[in-house]
Amino acid sequence: MKVLIADDDTISRAVVKALLLKWGYEVLEVEDGKQAWDILKDNDSSHLVLLDWMMPGMDGLELSRRLRQSGTNTYHYIILLTGRDSKEDIIGGLNAGADDYITKPFIPEELELRLRTGKRILDLQQSLKEALEVQRFQAQHDRLTGIFNHVEILNILEKELDRAGRQNGNLAVIMGDLDRFKKVNDTYGHVAGDAVLVEVAARMKNNIRLYDSAGRYGGEEFLLVLPGCTTEEAIIIANRILESISKEPVIFNNTLIKVTISLGLAVNRAGETITVTELVQLADTALYKAKQNGRNRMEQARA
Ligand code: GH3
Ligand code: MG
Ligand code: MG
Repeated sequence: MKVLIADDDTISRAVVKALLLKWGYEVLEVEDGKQAWDILKDNDSSHLVLLDWMMPGMDGLELSRRLRQSGTNTYHYIILLTGRDSKEDIIGGLNAGADDYITKPFIPEELELRLRTGKRILDLQQSLKEALEVQRFQAQHDRLTGIFNHVEILNILEKELDRAGRQNGNLAVIMGDLDRFKKVNDTYGHVAGDAVLVEVAARMKNNIRLYDSAGRYGGEEFLLVLPGCTTEEAIIIANRILESISKEPVIFNNTLIKVTISLGLAVNRAGETITVTELVQLADTALYKAKQNGRNRMEQARA
């Protein structure tokens, strides 16, 4: 845990620093509020901050106020070190955004315990943040394949379609559906079928660009969102995907499973206005055509 000491008094800083190091903290020290602000304002790791109230330039109170108003996602736990101990001062300090205060002169044990409280709160906050990130990831991704789920890929499509509209750009979508997948399950079992889905998702991801997105649209259906892609570029990507899936069988428990996919391509050309539903519908119709025309192939929605 990092502790930032801001104090203009060299001796007082050295004393506190020695204590902090003894207690196992990582220590940063600055001479005034401005330097502390420069370190903390864009810092995304939480700090315990020991602030002297009175410093030249930006004082501890002003820095507390700024940190609380800055609207960053990172919470810094602020302890004001102050020689002032009237009720009004304490209220003023807490009101400015400090979490706690210690009046000088302090005894080391008190500082140690108050820092420990701050650390507990920052640790708790960190674990909540991590739990939230895990939850967000799970809410957006398909559990089996790890690519985006149905809801998220449509969210992405909506955003990209909006962007394409504003920037007058192209946007391609590819709808894919595994061929005769029921037979894969019937022949090799559901677990093998799952392994095929995972492998197909991986091969798709390998064949799209960094800024493209792949989602599991349904059971064995996939949706790819390709921003800025012209029809010609989308065809190249679609063919690459067809080849990457059909060329090598999926190996599951030493069994070779041959897999192919059918793809439907729809492009929203620059200047066109089309809704998410319409674009997906066009890709779906093209996919249906690919199935009818013999599978393991791609068809386009419009010439
Ligand atoms: P087509 O070429 O016409 O698409 O034939 P198909 O057999 O792929 O089509 P159908 O829609 O009849 O079957 C889809 C199969 O996909 C049926 C279902 O059991 C299987 N499936 C869907 N989701 C999963 C899954 O999560 N895991 C596994 N193993 N199978 C799945
Ligand atoms: Mg299907
Ligand atoms: Mg299918």
